Amino acid sequence: MQKITLAIHGGAGTILREDMTPELEQLYLTGLEEALLAGYTILEKSGTASNAVIAAVSALENNVLFNAGRGSVFTKRGEHEMDASIMEGKNLEAGAVAGVKNVRNPIQLANEIMLHSHHVFLSGQGAFEFALQQKLALESDDYFYSQFRYEQWKAVRDTNNYMLDHSQHETEKLLKDKKFGTVGAVACDAFGNLAAATSTGGMTNKQFNRIGDTPVIGSGTYANNNTCAISCTGHGELFIRAVAAYDVSCLMEYKGLSLHEAMNIVVNDKLVKINGEGGMIGVDTKGNFALLFNSEGMYRGVKNNENYQEISIYR
Ligand code: ASP
Repeated sequence: MQKITLAIHGGAGTILREDMTPELEQLYLTGLEEALLAGYTILEKSGTASNAVIAAVSALENNVLFNAGRGSVFTKRGEHEMDASIMEGKNLEAGAVAGVKNVRNPIQLANEIMLHSHHVFLSGQGAFEFALQQKLALESDDYFYSQFRYEQWKAVRDTNNYMLDHSQHETEKLLKDKKFGTVGAVACDAFGNLAAATSTGGMTNKQFNRIGDTPVIGSGTYANNNTCAISCTGHGELFIRAVAAYDVSCLMEYKGLSLHEAMNIVVNDKLVKINGEGGMIGVDTKGNFALLFNSEGMYRGVKNNENYQEISIYR
Protein backbone atom coordinates (compact mmCIF):
# COMPACT_ATOMS: atom_id res chain seq x y z
CA MET A 1 0.00 0.00 0.00
CA GLN A 2 1.24 3.49 -0.85
CA LYS A 3 2.06 5.41 2.29
CA ILE A 4 0.50 8.88 2.35
CA THR A 5 2.22 11.48 4.47
CA LEU A 6 1.88 15.16 5.24
CA ALA A 7 4.45 17.13 7.22
CA ILE A 8 4.26 20.81 8.17
CA HIS A 9 6.40 23.42 9.88
CA GLY A 10 5.68 26.80 11.40
CA GLY A 11 9.25 28.09 11.63
CA ALA A 12 12.46 27.20 13.44
CA GLY A 13 14.63 29.18 15.82
CA THR A 14 15.23 29.94 19.46
CA ILE A 15 12.08 28.43 20.76
CA LEU A 16 12.48 27.70 24.44
CA ARG A 17 10.02 26.12 26.81
CA GLU A 18 10.81 28.70 29.47
CA ASP A 19 9.74 31.53 27.15
CA MET A 20 6.35 30.00 26.54
CA THR A 21 3.19 30.15 28.61
CA PRO A 22 1.03 27.01 28.67
CA GLU A 23 -1.79 28.97 27.00
CA LEU A 24 0.39 30.19 24.15
CA GLU A 25 1.90 26.76 23.68
CA GLN A 26 -1.59 25.33 23.39
CA LEU A 27 -2.51 27.92 20.76
CA TYR A 28 0.52 26.95 18.68
CA LEU A 29 -0.21 23.24 19.00
CA THR A 30 -3.83 23.79 18.04
CA GLY A 31 -2.83 25.93 15.06
CA LEU A 32 -0.42 23.25 13.87
CA GLU A 33 -2.98 20.49 14.31
CA GLU A 34 -5.66 22.39 12.39
CA ALA A 35 -3.27 22.93 9.50
CA LEU A 36 -2.12 19.32 9.56
CA LEU A 37 -5.70 18.08 9.42
CA ALA A 38 -6.67 20.57 6.71
CA GLY A 39 -3.99 19.07 4.47
CA TYR A 40 -4.24 15.46 5.56
CA THR A 41 -8.00 15.26 4.98
CA ILE A 42 -7.31 16.00 1.33
CA LEU A 43 -4.69 13.26 1.06
CA GLU A 44 -6.99 10.80 2.79
CA LYS A 45 -9.67 11.40 0.16
CA SER A 46 -7.13 10.65 -2.58
CA GLY A 47 -6.55 14.35 -3.24
CA THR A 48 -3.28 15.52 -4.71
CA ALA A 49 -0.11 16.34 -2.80
CA SER A 50 -0.24 19.91 -4.11
CA ASN A 51 -3.81 20.49 -2.93
CA ALA A 52 -2.84 19.11 0.47
CA VAL A 53 0.19 21.39 0.91
CA ILE A 54 -1.81 24.42 -0.28
CA ALA A 55 -4.57 23.68 2.27
CA ALA A 56 -2.09 23.22 5.12
CA VAL A 57 -0.09 26.35 4.27
CA SER A 58 -3.24 28.45 3.76
CA ALA A 59 -4.43 27.46 7.25
CA LEU A 60 -1.11 28.58 8.72
CA GLU A 61 -1.18 31.81 6.68
CA ASN A 62 -4.59 32.58 8.17
CA ASN A 63 -3.31 32.10 11.72
CA VAL A 64 -1.84 35.30 13.15
CA LEU A 65 0.63 33.35 15.30
CA PHE A 66 2.72 32.36 12.31
CA ASN A 67 4.91 34.64 10.23
CA ALA A 68 3.17 34.24 6.88
CA GLY A 69 0.05 35.77 5.40
CA ARG A 70 -1.90 37.47 8.16
CA GLY A 71 0.86 37.24 10.82
CA SER A 72 3.66 38.54 8.57
CA VAL A 73 6.45 40.58 10.19
CA PHE A 74 7.24 44.24 9.42
CA THR A 75 9.90 45.40 6.96
CA LYS A 76 12.25 48.30 7.66
CA ARG A 77 9.61 50.59 6.15
CA GLY A 78 6.90 49.21 8.42
CA GLU A 79 5.15 47.25 5.67
CA HIS A 80 4.44 43.61 5.02
CA GLU A 81 6.05 41.95 2.01
CA MET A 82 5.39 38.29 1.58
CA ASP A 83 7.18 35.50 -0.28
CA ALA A 84 5.85 32.05 -1.18
CA SER A 85 6.46 29.14 -3.51
CA ILE A 86 5.11 25.75 -4.50
CA MET A 87 6.60 22.88 -6.47
CA GLU A 88 5.20 19.58 -7.74
CA GLY A 89 7.46 16.56 -7.96
CA LYS A 90 5.77 14.90 -10.92
CA ASN A 91 6.64 17.32 -13.72
CA LEU A 92 8.88 19.74 -11.79
CA GLU A 93 6.20 22.42 -12.16
CA ALA A 94 6.73 25.42 -9.89
CA GLY A 95 5.26 28.79 -9.01
CA ALA A 96 6.72 31.52 -6.82
CA VAL A 97 5.94 35.02 -5.64
CA ALA A 98 8.16 37.57 -3.91
CA GLY A 99 7.51 40.86 -2.15
CA VAL A 100 3.76 40.80 -2.59
CA LYS A 101 1.43 42.89 -0.45
CA ASN A 102 -2.25 42.65 0.49
CA VAL A 103 -2.79 39.15 -0.86
CA ARG A 104 -4.52 37.07 1.76
CA ASN A 105 -2.89 33.77 0.81
CA PRO A 106 0.41 34.17 -1.03
CA ILE A 107 0.68 30.39 -1.43
CA GLN A 108 -2.49 30.44 -3.53
CA LEU A 109 -0.95 33.14 -5.69
CA ALA A 110 2.17 31.00 -6.16
CA ASN A 111 -0.11 28.16 -7.21
CA GLU A 112 -2.00 30.37 -9.70
CA ILE A 113 1.35 31.45 -11.17
CA MET A 114 2.30 27.78 -11.56
CA LEU A 115 -1.01 26.82 -13.14
CA HIS A 116 -2.12 29.87 -15.12
CA SER A 117 0.82 32.05 -16.10
CA HIS A 118 3.66 31.42 -18.53
CA HIS A 119 6.10 32.13 -15.75
CA VAL A 120 7.51 30.59 -12.62
CA PHE A 121 8.33 33.66 -10.54
CA LEU A 122 6.51 37.00 -10.21
CA SER A 123 7.31 39.82 -7.80
CA GLY A 124 5.87 43.05 -6.42
CA GLN A 125 3.28 44.97 -8.39
CA GLY A 126 3.19 42.46 -11.26
CA ALA A 127 2.44 39.67 -8.84
CA PHE A 128 -0.27 41.78 -7.22
CA GLU A 129 -1.91 42.49 -10.57
CA PHE A 130 -1.84 38.81 -11.41
CA ALA A 131 -3.58 38.12 -8.09
CA LEU A 132 -6.26 40.64 -9.11
CA GLN A 133 -6.70 38.97 -12.47
CA GLN A 134 -7.04 35.56 -10.85
CA LYS A 135 -9.58 37.01 -8.41
CA LEU A 136 -7.68 35.95 -5.32
CA ALA A 137 -8.81 37.29 -1.94
CA LEU A 138 -7.18 40.62 -1.03
CA GLU A 139 -6.95 42.31 2.36
CA SER A 140 -6.28 45.85 3.55
CA ASP A 141 -3.09 46.67 5.47
CA ASP A 142 -5.02 46.44 8.75
CA TYR A 143 -5.57 42.73 8.28
CA PHE A 144 -1.81 42.18 8.44
CA TYR A 145 -1.31 44.37 11.52
CA SER A 146 -0.71 42.61 14.81
CA GLN A 147 0.42 44.30 17.99
CA PHE A 148 3.09 41.77 18.89
CA ARG A 149 4.76 41.95 15.48
CA TYR A 150 4.65 45.72 15.73
CA GLU A 151 6.43 45.56 19.11
CA GLN A 152 9.02 43.21 17.63
CA TRP A 153 9.68 45.65 14.84
CA LYS A 154 9.72 48.70 17.15
CA ALA A 155 12.55 47.14 19.14
CA VAL A 156 14.84 46.98 16.09
CA ARG A 157 13.56 49.48 13.55
CA ASP A 158 16.10 52.18 14.40
CA THR A 159 18.99 49.78 13.99
CA ASN A 160 20.45 48.13 10.95
CA ASN A 161 19.63 44.75 12.40
CA TYR A 162 17.13 42.46 10.90
CA MET A 163 16.16 39.26 12.53
CA LEU A 164 14.66 35.89 12.11
CA ASP A 165 11.22 36.00 13.55
CA HIS A 166 12.42 33.48 16.08
CA SER A 167 16.06 34.04 16.98
CA GLN A 168 17.88 35.22 20.02
CA HIS A 169 19.90 38.16 18.77
CA GLU A 170 21.01 41.07 20.94
CA THR A 171 18.05 43.12 19.93
CA GLU A 172 15.62 40.39 20.66
CA LYS A 173 16.61 40.41 24.30
CA LEU A 174 14.56 43.57 24.37
CA LEU A 175 11.55 41.54 23.51
CA LYS A 176 9.64 39.84 26.20
CA ASP A 177 7.60 38.03 23.69
CA LYS A 178 9.18 35.68 21.21
CA LYS A 179 6.98 34.80 18.30
CA PHE A 180 7.98 32.51 15.54
CA GLY A 181 7.02 31.99 11.98
CA THR A 182 7.42 30.99 8.34
CA VAL A 183 5.31 28.09 7.34
CA GLY A 184 5.59 25.15 5.02
CA ALA A 185 4.24 21.75 4.08
CA VAL A 186 5.41 18.69 2.15
CA ALA A 187 3.26 15.77 1.05
CA CYS A 188 3.33 12.37 -0.58
CA ASP A 189 -0.09 11.44 -1.96
CA ALA A 190 -1.83 8.13 -2.69
CA PHE A 191 -0.35 8.14 -6.21
CA GLY A 192 3.21 8.56 -4.93
CA ASN A 193 3.37 12.17 -6.12
CA LEU A 194 5.25 14.75 -4.07
CA ALA A 195 4.71 18.48 -3.49
CA ALA A 196 6.26 21.18 -1.33
CA ALA A 197 4.99 24.65 -0.37
CA THR A 198 6.50 27.43 1.75
CA SER A 199 5.24 30.90 2.72
CA THR A 200 6.69 33.71 4.82
CA GLY A 201 6.65 37.36 5.82
CA GLY A 202 10.46 37.10 5.87
CA MET A 203 12.59 38.65 8.58
CA THR A 204 11.65 41.49 10.93
CA ASN A 205 13.10 44.86 9.84
CA LYS A 206 14.34 43.40 6.56
CA GLN A 207 15.35 45.91 3.89
CA PHE A 208 12.30 46.60 1.74
CA ASN A 209 12.28 44.44 -1.38
CA ARG A 210 14.59 41.94 0.31
CA ILE A 211 13.82 38.43 -0.88
CA GLY A 212 14.66 35.38 1.23
CA ASP A 213 14.98 31.71 0.41
CA THR A 214 11.28 30.89 0.70
CA PRO A 215 10.26 31.71 -2.89
CA VAL A 216 13.56 30.58 -4.41
CA ILE A 217 13.01 27.18 -5.99
CA GLY A 218 15.84 24.90 -4.89
CA SER A 219 16.69 26.96 -1.81
CA GLY A 220 13.56 27.21 0.34
CA THR A 221 11.33 24.81 -1.59
CA TYR A 222 11.93 21.84 -3.89
CA ALA A 223 10.06 18.73 -5.05
CA ASN A 224 11.05 15.93 -7.40
CA ASN A 225 9.34 12.54 -7.59
CA ASN A 226 12.73 10.88 -8.08
CA THR A 227 13.91 12.05 -4.69
CA CYS A 228 12.00 14.19 -2.20
CA ALA A 229 9.90 17.24 -1.36
CA ILE A 230 11.51 19.80 0.96
CA SER A 231 10.32 23.00 2.68
CA CYS A 232 12.82 25.09 4.64
CA THR A 233 12.75 27.69 7.39
CA GLY A 234 15.59 29.72 8.81
CA HIS A 235 18.03 32.48 7.96
CA GLY A 236 17.16 32.83 4.28
CA GLU A 237 20.41 34.35 3.04
CA LEU A 238 22.28 31.24 4.15
CA PHE A 239 19.70 28.85 2.74
CA ILE A 240 20.03 30.60 -0.61
CA ARG A 241 23.80 30.28 -0.54
CA ALA A 242 23.54 26.62 0.45
CA VAL A 243 20.87 25.91 -2.22
CA ALA A 244 19.58 23.90 0.71
CA ALA A 245 16.43 22.16 -0.56
CA TYR A 246 17.95 21.08 -3.88
CA ASP A 247 21.10 19.91 -2.15
CA VAL A 248 19.06 17.31 -0.25
CA SER A 249 17.62 16.11 -3.56
CA CYS A 250 21.10 15.97 -5.12
CA LEU A 251 22.53 13.97 -2.24
CA MET A 252 19.72 11.45 -2.69
CA GLU A 253 19.95 11.36 -6.49
CA TYR A 254 23.70 11.33 -7.00
CA LYS A 255 24.92 9.72 -3.81
CA GLY A 256 22.04 7.35 -3.18
CA LEU A 257 21.50 8.63 0.37
CA SER A 258 18.20 8.22 2.20
CA LEU A 259 16.01 11.27 2.86
CA HIS A 260 17.08 11.39 6.49
CA GLU A 261 20.79 11.01 5.71
CA ALA A 262 20.68 13.72 3.06
CA MET A 263 18.74 16.17 5.21
CA ASN A 264 21.03 15.52 8.15
CA ILE A 265 24.10 16.47 6.09
CA VAL A 266 22.52 19.69 4.86
CA VAL A 267 20.94 20.80 8.15
CA ASN A 268 23.49 19.64 10.68
CA ASP A 269 26.70 19.96 8.73
CA LYS A 270 26.62 22.17 5.63
CA LEU A 271 24.29 24.84 7.03
CA VAL A 272 25.95 24.80 10.45
CA LYS A 273 29.36 25.46 8.84
CA ILE A 274 28.07 28.71 7.35
CA ASN A 275 25.98 29.68 10.43
CA GLY A 276 22.74 28.89 8.64
CA GLU A 277 20.33 28.64 11.54
CA GLY A 278 17.07 26.84 10.82
CA GLY A 279 15.57 23.59 9.68
CA MET A 280 13.53 21.78 7.07
CA ILE A 281 10.88 19.13 6.59
CA GLY A 282 10.97 16.47 3.90
CA VAL A 283 9.13 13.46 2.49
CA ASP A 284 10.10 10.91 -0.14
CA THR A 285 7.96 8.90 -2.58
CA LYS A 286 7.69 6.01 -0.13
CA GLY A 287 6.07 8.37 2.35
CA ASN A 288 9.10 8.45 4.65
CA PHE A 289 9.55 11.76 6.39
CA ALA A 290 12.12 13.75 8.36
CA LEU A 291 11.80 16.97 10.35
CA LEU A 292 15.28 18.30 11.17
CA PHE A 293 16.62 21.57 12.60
CA ASN A 294 19.86 22.92 14.01
CA SER A 295 18.14 25.55 16.16
CA GLU A 296 16.54 25.22 19.58
CA GLY A 297 13.17 24.29 18.22
CA MET A 298 10.90 24.10 15.22
CA TYR A 299 7.13 24.20 15.15
CA ARG A 300 6.28 21.02 13.31
CA GLY A 301 3.83 18.22 12.69
CA VAL A 302 3.45 15.06 10.64
CA LYS A 303 0.68 12.57 9.95
CA ASN A 304 0.51 9.42 7.82
CA ASN A 305 -1.82 6.53 7.04
CA GLU A 306 0.01 4.22 9.42
CA ASN A 307 -1.71 5.98 12.29
CA TYR A 308 1.27 8.10 13.13
CA GLN A 309 0.71 11.69 14.19
CA GLU A 310 3.20 13.97 15.90
CA ILE A 311 2.99 17.66 16.70
CA SER A 312 5.92 19.20 18.52
CA ILE A 313 7.86 22.36 19.17
CA TYR A 314 11.06 21.73 21.11
CA ARG A 315 14.05 19.55 20.55
N1 ASP B 1 13.48 31.76 5.62
C1 ASP B 1 12.72 32.94 5.88
C2 ASP B 1 13.41 34.12 5.22
O1 ASP B 1 14.61 34.23 5.30
C3 ASP B 1 12.55 33.27 7.32
C4 ASP B 1 12.13 32.13 8.20
O2 ASP B 1 12.15 30.97 7.81
O3 ASP B 1 11.72 32.40 9.35
O4 ASP B 1 12.72 34.96 4.70
